[in-house]
Amino acid sequence: MRKDFLPFTRPAITAADIEAVTDVLKSGWITNGPANAAFEQEVCRLTGNRYGVALSSATAAMHLLLKVLNIGPGDEVITPSMTWVSIANMIELVGARPVLVEVDRETLLVRPDAVAAAITPRTKLIVPVHFAGVPVDIDAIRAVAGGIPVVEDAAHALGTCYKGRHIGAEHAIYSFHAIKNVTCGEGGMFVTSDEAMAAAIRRWKFHGIVMDAFDRQNRGRSPQAEVVEPGYKYNLTDMSAALGLSQLRRIDAINARRTELAMQYRAAFADMPEIRPLGDPSGYDFKSAWHLFVVRVDTPKYTRDEFMAELKALNIGSGLHFRCVHLQKYYRETYGYQPGFLPDTEYNSDHILSLPLFPDMTDGDVGDVVAAIRELLAR
Ligand SMILES: *Cc1c(COP(=O)(O)O)cnc(C)c1O
Repeated sequence: MRKDFLPFTRPAITAADIEAVTDVLKSGWITNGPANAAFEQEVCRLTGNRYGVALSSATAAMHLLLKVLNIGPGDEVITPSMTWVSIANMIELVGARPVLVEVDRETLLVRPDAVAAAITPRTKLIVPVHFAGVPVDIDAIRAVAGGIPVVEDAAHALGTCYKGRHIGAEHAIYSFHAIKNVTCGEGGMFVTSDEAMAAAIRRWKFHGIVMDAFDRQNRGRSPQAEVVEPGYKYNLTDMSAALGLSQLRRIDAINARRTELAMQYRAAFADMPEIRPLGDPSGYDFKSAWHLFVVRVDTPKYTRDEFMAELKALNIGSGLHFRCVHLQKYYRETYGYQPGFLPDTEYNSDHILSLPLFPDMTDGDVGDVVAAIRELLAR
């Protein structure tokens, strides 16, 4: 058994990252400023978008998006139930209805036919998720969406490619939370190719003022900032942006190492029928950012929760991404969802766990995880 605990993730922080943050601290400008602008520019360079607006979280980005699109009571937003709760929560908090749909049982990617079946005259937005770093079939989703806006939840997908180019060509939301492939500690970005949308998000993120303090001081604009409509306060600090920017410079190496580790897991589980990694989607060419290594534990010996507890007792951490949204207390009670509503989502919600996967892991760490799993299955 391992002597020390292996967490399921750990941020990859280098000396250069620490220096980048320290430089900001010494500079005299620590909230949103030049590092924010540079971070926005570099994310756009990677993703091929024209506009990026750095924010305090992806959840904040989702909130602003709903406000900018004027989504509220009487409106519906389609998103999978197999996702992080923040998306549904924001939809709920603006008074709209999250319409939670089914995913593919093997990939956990939202099914275009499920999206098509959920569209009504009240549908104002569709938010698919690039799960674990694997891209959804966005062309197929756009085709069923007709003219309804589609904004990609790309929290797992910095560096993910679909049919040869980076995902999120139109609008996407990235997260830089501590567990994501590139982190700011906390942070998010709304990335778009629509200038008006970017301008609206930028305005709403800072009190509804058309320019912030950095704009005034550095871009020579009028000191009289005016509120054009009441907004929020969702800006990112430059300390955070500098960390993200420094990490972003290594994104290829970060994702390449994640991919190597994932391939080692896949090879190890090929002869273990009780441990079922997610499958790859078929029908399109893609590159995964390998944000998570998710497996389904399918054995009468353990429930998933028991398996996670036993792994922990063997000093192996694991995560749960995700418990489905529609069966969480609030959603169950508010909308009357019952088990059986989304069978493939529910099967996964009950059987998945995320194994340790982070760039500083060694091949030996993967070996420890596999050995612990073999031991549990042999008991
Ligand atoms: C992490 C995550 C989010 C939220 O990101 P925050 O930056 O923590 O708000 C949204 N969607 C998915 C799928 C996520 O994994």
